[in-house]
Amino acid sequence: MARPAFPDLASGMPVPLLDLRAQHARIRDAVLAAMMPVVDDQTFILGEPVRALEADVAALSRTKFAIGCANGTDALLLALRAVDVGRDDEVVTTPFTFFATAGTIHNVGARARFVDIDPKTFNIRPDLVAAAVSPRTKAIVPVDLFGQLAPIEEIRRLVPSLPIIEDAAQSIGARRKIAGEWRMAGEVATVGTFSFFPSKNLGGYGDGGMMVTQDAAIAERLFKLRTHGSVKTYFHEEVGYNSRLDTLQAAVLRAKLAFLGEWSAKRRENAAYYTAAFADLGDLTTPFVDPANESIFNQYTVRVPRRDALKEHLATRGIGHSVYYPLPLHLQQCFAYLGYKRGECPESERAADEVLSLPVYPELTRAQLDEVVAAVRSFFGR
Ligand SMILES: *Cc1c(COP(=O)(O)O)cnc(C)c1O
Repeated sequence: MARPAFPDLASGMPVPLLDLRAQHARIRDAVLAAMMPVVDDQTFILGEPVRALEADVAALSRTKFAIGCANGTDALLLALRAVDVGRDDEVVTTPFTFFATAGTIHNVGARARFVDIDPKTFNIRPDLVAAAVSPRTKAIVPVDLFGQLAPIEEIRRLVPSLPIIEDAAQSIGARRKIAGEWRMAGEVATVGTFSFFPSKNLGGYGDGGMMVTQDAAIAERLFKLRTHGSVKTYFHEEVGYNSRLDTLQAAVLRAKLAFLGEWSAKRRENAAYYTAAFADLGDLTTPFVDPANESIFNQYTVRVPRRDALKEHLATRGIGHSVYYPLPLHLQQCFAYLGYKRGECPESERAADEVLSLPVYPELTRAQLDEVVAAVRSFFGR
């Protein structure tokens, strides 16, 4: 039986795309020390570390509430339910994202309405969002792609009446200057959602997710939805899910959260190093960070017209790389029923053909950075 494979994130290649073993070597003692009390207490479901992590993430995101759940996909699913998106509703979103952004829209019975991206930031275009809103639209799901926030405030300004679910799975701790003030990922949305998938900037030892909101009623609904729609055990006000964050994951994530700021700074430093080293490569476009944003560089994603040739070139030199994402969601087979055709989101389609993500993880050594630089430059004959 064919099973989908995840890229080997800790292989022995000279420069892997991500090296979780290098990270682990440094944080091992702190993480194991945080895990052992959970093992000793046997409080595996919704134990104290879950509440503590929720408080920590709410503080980081400057939100009143944070609600842990099983993964970043469920965080979107529960958020859609919490703002009453259901059968035959429409939800406006971007096609240039990980599948879960639109898969969850389908799974609550709604229809995804895809609108194109800004080719520089890869994030959704607010003017196209506004133009796509119809009387059936129930929510907007912008994605903070690759570590920088989408222009949430502009979407809210153009469409003030609709809830915004900010898919910040790749951008926990990123921020954006809005009206002169720094705002955190998740802070200004109706609901912000995070993923703790191991390869995200803050990754657990398995799956995990979280939702943040400023709205008490929505928070209450999210708490309820993650435990089968019940507040009082065995009494169900609505049909929810089993989507809890494991106590062990919360303990791991709390220990790792202490390093997040430092890791994000190192990622920015690595990104700046590449961008300077690639400055003279005319056929390569380095990542553009909106001047209002501070990115956490979940990915360092370049654009190259001869992308597949560069991929081959890097593969033969043992340089990790990946294409996020090779096929925009409006062209996925499973969404054929929505009726989209090639050409309807041209910038997303062009991005899918041209993007390539390079290793940018915090533990990269100078020698590894230089190896990536040399390999990329040699492709262009430099
Ligand atoms: C990773 C990711 C998700 C899903 O998170 P999981 O924890 O893997 O379920 C959703 N949206 C985006 C943009 C992601 O990158």
